[in-house]
Amino acid sequence: MSLIVQKYGGSSLATTENIKYVAKKIVDRKKQKNKLVVVVSAMGKTTDNLIKMAEEVHHCPPEKEMDILLSTGEMVSVAMLCMAIEEMGEAAEGFVGHCAGIRTDNFHTKARIQTIEPSRIISELKKESIIVLAGFQGISPDNDITTLGRGGSDLTAVAISAAIKADLCEIYTDVKGIYTTDPHLLPNARLIRELSYEELLEMSSAGARVMFSRAVEFAKKYNVPFVVKSTFAEKGEGTMVKEILLKEGADVSAAALDEKQAKLTIFRVPDRPGISSRIFSSLGKANINVDVIVQSVSKEKYADISFTVNISEAEKAFSIIKEVAKEINAGNTSCDMEVAKLTIIGIGMMHHAGIAGKMFSALADAGVNIEMISTSETKISCIVKRSEGKKGLKAVHREFLEK
Ligand code: ASP
Ligand code: MG
Repeated sequence: MSLIVQKYGGSSLATTENIKYVAKKIVDRKKQKNKLVVVVSAMGKTTDNLIKMAEEVHHCPPEKEMDILLSTGEMVSVAMLCMAIEEMGEAAEGFVGHCAGIRTDNFHTKARIQTIEPSRIISELKKESIIVLAGFQGISPDNDITTLGRGGSDLTAVAISAAIKADLCEIYTDVKGIYTTDPHLLPNARLIRELSYEELLEMSSAGARVMFSRAVEFAKKYNVPFVVKSTFAEKGEGTMVKEILLKEGADVSAAALDEKQAKLTIFRVPDRPGISSRIFSSLGKANINVDVIVQSVSKEKYADISFTVNISEAEKAFSIIKEVAKEINAGNTSCDMEVAKLTIIGIGMMHHAGIAGKMFSALADAGVNIEMISTSETKISCIVKRSEGKKGLKAVHREFLEK
């Protein structure tokens, strides 16, 4: 007998038909003598619709009430799924976040889990009930309902797995697992069998939309292996995500294209201590996340500095650097909204020489010009023209991931 945590995303629960299908799957699994805790997201696009509704009555909805509103989505799923399970003759017990002992801080709409007190869940499990738990929510120190940030049900699943020491954590979604790159961008993408926490985190920051990053960080910190698999496919192993320290043979595990980047440049920046700190602390104060940074070789005590940000923050960042450029006596500034970030990821990379060279050659052969480069032990990113991004992705995927 195993203690299994399962999480079903919104697309797996979009209709009452889907809910019955999922209920059947859960009941079958229970009959194989397992204990089950099932974490659910809101049905289909419920959360998006609730946000739209709030914005129709308030230009900037207050966050505490936003949490009251958004948490209802998951509550509907809990109630519906429990009913569907009961209808099939199994006992089910529904829990919303605070009844399950999920305590968070009070940062409404992006709260962090602080403690989980799972005694009620554990005692219900002993009575042979299937537990259905609302994802994405908890309760603040003031006893208000909080939510964990968009996509936060993944975190609920991983955190409850750690708290009850589950044998297995399964994340069910509408795709078969995690792919070597986004299959919508590249049909040649392959399903990955095994991935390390580290690689999945790098994939998220490279722009791949796979899982809630904080869930992966949590899983890594508390070592909670999990598998990502399809709700609707009858067969298929999915992708196992766990601690992997070394991959023999495999150098690159995945490639990602982030088309939401903008590149900003300050020309003729005086080359003396304190200048970069001046520029980037102004951006930091404005809460702007800077990604790739490149400084050119200094000529006659001047250098150019380029960096990228998410396109949604480009205008704000541009007006900040225009001001700073004046203050530090730099030259012109520019903002290029038409760039993309192409990244290859792999923990095997640090033990293989020549990966960067191979990536750059693949891009050169495809006629893609590299504007900026950034590397770490587990990834290499290149900034390219957005119009050349997909061509570049195809080229690097072919080079590293199709053999
Ligand atoms: N329903 C929430 C959202 O759409 C949480 C989740 O799906 O994980 O963001
Ligand atoms: Mg979701």
